[in-house]
Amino acid sequence: MGVERCGLCGLPIYVRLAAVWNDDGTITGRFVHSTRVVQAYADELDYIFDGISERIGLDISKIVVEGERKAGLEFTKTLMGKVYGLAGMVARNRLFSRLVFEFVIRASKNAGFGDCKVVGQKHNKLLKIDVKEAFNPPVLAGNMLGSFEAFAKRPGTVRWEGDREHVLIVIEADGDEGRVEEERLKPVLPVVIPGDYMVERCRRCHMPVELTRRYSFDLDRGIATEVCTGRRIVTVMIDSLNAVFKELEGELGGEITRMIVELESDYVKEHAMMPAAVDEDKAMHELLSDLRIKGMGNPTEISMTGDELLVRIENPFSEQLLAGRVLGFYRALMGDPADVKLTPDEEGFMFVKAFRP
Ligand SMILES: [Zn+2]
Repeated sequence: MGVERCGLCGLPIYVRLAAVWNDDGTITGRFVHSTRVVQAYADELDYIFDGISERIGLDISKIVVEGERKAGLEFTKTLMGKVYGLAGMVARNRLFSRLVFEFVIRASKNAGFGDCKVVGQKHNKLLKIDVKEAFNPPVLAGNMLGSFEAFAKRPGTVRWEGDREHVLIVIEADGDEGRVEEERLKPVLPVVIPGDYMVERCRRCHMPVELTRRYSFDLDRGIATEVCTGRRIVTVMIDSLNAVFKELEGELGGEITRMIVELESDYVKEHAMMPAAVDEDKAMHELLSDLRIKGMGNPTEISMTGDELLVRIENPFSEQLLAGRVLGFYRALMGDPADVKLTPDEEGFMFVKAFRP
């Protein structure tokens, strides 16, 4: 216990080793600083992916795998480069191989993706991962496929069998090495605007004390839970979310953007915990206050004028999901009908306006 958790606030050490909570509404990876992560409810992301599949009448799991694969590939490449500096040469080493996959597995459990275990491995040819209480299997499968490809330096295929309780992910190399190099994911690096979000930090481990109050981490099972609601949360890379959305938009067209906004807004409206404040302006501040601890961005202006709500969010993690989120809270507080407009993020901030149509 003493080694696993901070002696003062009780937060698992691994959470501190993995990520940094910044004062600007972002959470970034400690090992790979360019990796920004966000916390979302597990069923929130399921709701969006399943909702898109339902609306368009097409199983989108292949597209989700593809987006996640690109992000996993990028992440693992950066990680390997970071650890050894010369990924190409050392990558062939079996010990190094075990280290990297060990890290990827550990990171997945830490992210709340379930109890992941490598159950079969043929160097650079085959990887079998067993997951109990799994988060969204296409997300997991795509992510692990990307890591495998970064490592084996050749494309692979992935399939999975079983259900959420127990899923087996099987990755096999497919084709010649070198081909993977061609398709790099262009990472969307958001402009980071410094913030002055004064988070209360633990005196010993310097992590926000709210983390321990808000979440409980079961690192053996790979499950993180929001204490007050009992709902499961996962930590995902924003590059992977955006890669999936971009993949969807590329394959299915621009109406996907609107669909994501609507689905997120439905989800948020349905699950909003209504604050005690009667005053609408205060209530909205309360509803939007957890954006920062979740790494979604920094809401620096929230103003309610009549029926119109205007929010400025710095360092937004996703335009679609934030617009949906603000609209969802607006609908929860003010009722329907409601609509939303957003200004795209070009310099590190966006405006979301929710209003009566
Ligand atoms: Zn602490």
